[in-house]
Amino acid sequence: MARMQAPVRTRTITHFIGGKPYGDDSARFGDVYDPALGEVQARVAFADQATVDLAVQAAKTAQAAWGRTPLGKRAEIFFAFRTLMKEHATQFGEILASEHGKIVSDAEGEVARALEVVDFACSLTHLLKGEFSENVSTTIDTYSMRQPVGVCAGITPFNFPMMVPVWMFAISIACGNAFVLKPSERDPSASLLIADLLKRAGLPDGVFNVVNGDKTAVDALLTHPDVNAISFVGSTPIAKYIYSTAAAHGKRVQALGGAKNHMVVMPDADLDSAADALVSAGYGSAGQRCMAISASITVGDTADALMSRIKDRIGKLKIGPGFDRGNDMGPVVNAAARDRILDYIKQGEAAGATLVVDGRDFRVSGYEKGFFIGPTLFDNVTPKMSIYSDEIFGPVLVNTRVGSLDEALQMLRDNPYGNGTSIFTRSGAAARRFQSEVEVGMIGINVPIPVPVGYYSFGGWKASLFGDLHIYGEDGFRFYTRGKVITSRWHDSNAGVNLGFPTHK
Ligand code: NAD
Repeated sequence: MARMQAPVRTRTITHFIGGKPYGDDSARFGDVYDPALGEVQARVAFADQATVDLAVQAAKTAQAAWGRTPLGKRAEIFFAFRTLMKEHATQFGEILASEHGKIVSDAEGEVARALEVVDFACSLTHLLKGEFSENVSTTIDTYSMRQPVGVCAGITPFNFPMMVPVWMFAISIACGNAFVLKPSERDPSASLLIADLLKRAGLPDGVFNVVNGDKTAVDALLTHPDVNAISFVGSTPIAKYIYSTAAAHGKRVQALGGAKNHMVVMPDADLDSAADALVSAGYGSAGQRCMAISASITVGDTADALMSRIKDRIGKLKIGPGFDRGNDMGPVVNAAARDRILDYIKQGEAAGATLVVDGRDFRVSGYEKGFFIGPTLFDNVTPKMSIYSDEIFGPVLVNTRVGSLDEALQMLRDNPYGNGTSIFTRSGAAARRFQSEVEVGMIGINVPIPVPVGYYSFGGWKASLFGDLHIYGEDGFRFYTRGKVITSRWHDSNAGVNLGFPTHK
C-alpha cells in the first residue's frame, strides 16, 4: 500500500506564540522520526528560556481580556473548535500515525475521546456558575464565584499527542485562563494543528501557545514567576520532579505519572471475553497507553486455558505501519523504546518466566528499519521480576498465577502504581469487593480500559498521580479556577459598633 504522504525530511516544526508560528531560527533542534520507517522525517525547534518567556508574556497579556470575555462568547468558540476538530479527525489520525506510529483508526479513537472533553468544556456556562445563599444573617447574603488562575502550562507525553493536551487546555481556557503547551518532542505536530484550529475557531491570539522542546523548556515553565498552574502527564520519575519543582515555585500542580495496570481474571469469567480484552488492552497502540493492561493475574485454574486463547489471538494480529488501517498494531515510538523493551524481554527470560510468545526478531517486509516489536507474552511471572515490577510501556503482557482473589488484591496493594485496573468475573460479590478494596483511581468491571468519559475525571492513585485533583471533568474546573466567597450586607440603617465575632443572628 502506498503512503498517503511522503515524508519530508527537511520540514521544520516551530513553536506557536501569540497567534503565529515562531522559531525557525532556534539554536537547538530535535529529530522527529517516522517510527514505521525508522527514519528522521522532520526537525523540531527546541525553546530556550527566552522563547518560553515570550510565550508566557503573550499568554499573560491575552489572559487579561480573555478572562473577562463573556461566557457565551467563550462557549461559542468551543463549539466552533469542536466542529473543526471533527472535520480534521482524519488529518489528526495521519499526523499521529506518522509521528507516533499508532494505526490511523486507533488515532481517530484518540480524537473521539478528546472530543468528549471539548464537549464537556462547551458546558462552561453551567460549570462556572457560583452559589448564592440569601439571609445567612440578618440582611446578609453570601455567594461564591470561581475565577481563572491566570497563565497555565501543560507538559504532555508522546503516547497521546492529541488527547492529553486537550484534557488540559480545553478546560483551562474554558475557565478563562491562557495556556502554554509543551508537547512531547517526539510527536509535536498535532499541537500545531490544534493551535491553528483554535485560531480559526476565533480564539484570540496568545490565549493558546505552543513551545516545543526538552527539559530546558520545561524547567523554564516550572520556575517562571508568571506561570500560575502546571499540569503534567508522563512517567512517574518526571511527574515527581515536576510536582516538587513547580510546587516549590508556588504553583498549583497536578502531575499524572506512569502505570502498571492489572487485570484480574476470576475462575468464573468468560474466558473468550477476557482473552479478547487482554489482547486488545495489552497490545493496542503497541502497549504504549497509560491505561494499557500490562499485567494479568489469573485466579485458580484459569491460566492454561487463558494463555492458549491469548496465543491464538496474537497469531492473528496484523502488524505494520500505522497509515494502513488494515493493521492492528504499529511500531513503538523510537529506537530507544525498542531497545528498552527488548532488554526487558531478555530480563524476563533470564529471571525464569515462561516466554509463551516471543516478539523479538520481528520484521515487517519493506519496513526493515522500523521500530517494530511483535506482541510478547510471559506466563509464570512473579512480583520480584523486573518485567512485573517495572512499567515496560511496550507490547509485553505478563501473567501471574494466584490461588485466590485475596492474593490478587494483595498484589495490587503491593504495587506502587494505582492508575487503572480491571476484573473479569460473573460474580457481583467479587466485583463489588474488588472496586471497594483496590487502591486505584480507575476501575473496570468486565471492561479492560476504563478511561472515564469526559464528564467524569481521569486520574490514578499512589505513584500514578501527584497532586489533589484529577484531570478534566469537574476536577478540571476546580483545578483551573480559584474560589472567592463574598459576604454582603445591604440595608438602610446603621448596625452600630459591635466588637464580637460575627454570628448568623
Ligand atoms: P516522559 O515522562 O518521558 O515525558 C513527558 C514529558 O516530560 C515530555 O513533554 C518530555 O519532554 C518531558 N520531560 C522528559 N524528561 C524530562 C526531564 N528530565 N525534565 C523535565 N521534563 C522532562 O513520558 P513519555 O515517555 O513521553 O510518555 C510515557 C509515560 O507517560 C509513561 O510512563 C505513561 O504511563 C505515562 N502516561 C501517563 C498517563 C496518565 O494519565 N497517568 C497518560 C499518558 C502517559
